[in-house]
Amino acid sequence: QAKKSGKNKSCFFSPEMNLQLRQALELEADIRAALTKAEFFLVYQPIIDLASGNIASVEALVRWRRSDGHIMAPDLFIATAEQTGLIVQLGEYIFKESCAQLRRLRDSGHEITMSINISPVQFQAEGIVERFTEFLHEFSVQAHWIQLEITEALLLDDYSENIELIQTLSDMGFKIAIDDFGTGYSSLSYLRKFPVDVVKIDKTFIEGIPVNIENVALVKAIIAMAKSLQLSVIAEGVEAEAHHDFLCDLQCNRAQGYLYSRPVDACDLNLSQYPVRAAIKQQIS
Ligand code: C2E
Ligand code: MG
Ligand code: MG
Ligand code: MG
Repeated sequence: QAKKSGKNKSCFFSPEMNLQLRQALELEADIRAALTKAEFFLVYQPIIDLASGNIASVEALVRWRRSDGHIMAPDLFIATAEQTGLIVQLGEYIFKESCAQLRRLRDSGHEITMSINISPVQFQAEGIVERFTEFLHEFSVQAHWIQLEITEALLLDDYSENIELIQTLSDMGFKIAIDDFGTGYSSLSYLRKFPVDVVKIDKTFIEGIPVNIENVALVKAIIAMAKSLQLSVIAEGVEAEAHHDFLCDLQCNRAQGYLYSRPVDACDLNLSQYPVRAAIKQQIS
């Protein structure tokens, strides 16, 4: 890229790049330290079964409590964690903590499942299957209670190795979900080649529904396609009742978004007396 810019030809690191590099190095050191200081924690966002109005699942989402008390969102550190390989250690923590939380939810009588985001970089690391197996045993959690959320990118690079690994995880019982569906280099053929169970329609497609006719057409097409392949569909970013009604009409399976709940701390997850649940249920019936 440096070559293309024409000016600055002789200067490999422009001042801005130098600053960026220093910031990235600082962030890397901070993430490394945060892992040892246990500054990462998980919040959970309910996923609603639209037919019943019940909470079917929760998605674990990572947060970083900095030493000054500031809570940092994943968009600001996941990319660096991926580039430095630190996502492998962070991802193990996330998987383990999700299993621990799922065990607590199951112990309190909820037949709930857990969605866990997995970075493509974690697939490159040795021993991911072994580590996941250990954590399942440690918390007596069954693989089929867990959905692994992967992105379309994973299905494209290093094709053959990834397909094997995803197949292994699927054979173990994990449900495989394609996150942010429609935003990548969507090739529908991979939905047949990979053992995919669920597609999650990206929130950018839910925005503006039902006024935005392009999004309406896209969401209809995705749901129809998923149904014909017998995949389950989750809509992300459901913020308005109009979104909810539209998705119910199309018989979308599940939905997730601020309309139902923001991601919350585990202690604030009240699955049996969820405030929005009754309201949503009434709407449906
Ligand atoms: P994602 O997996 O697609 O997660 C959904 C994101 O949408 C979450 O942002 C969630 O808080 C947000 N969201 C949920 N409902 C709504 C809504 O109604 N409106 C809007 N505008 N947003 C909504 P979050 O927690 O900031 O996470 C951002 C991304 O960071 C995630 O996107 C995922 O790609 C990544 N991420 C988060 N947690 C993890 C993790 O534990 N591991 C890995 N590898 N990536 C993670
Ligand atoms: Mg996700
Ligand atoms: Mg998503
Ligand atoms: Mg996303």
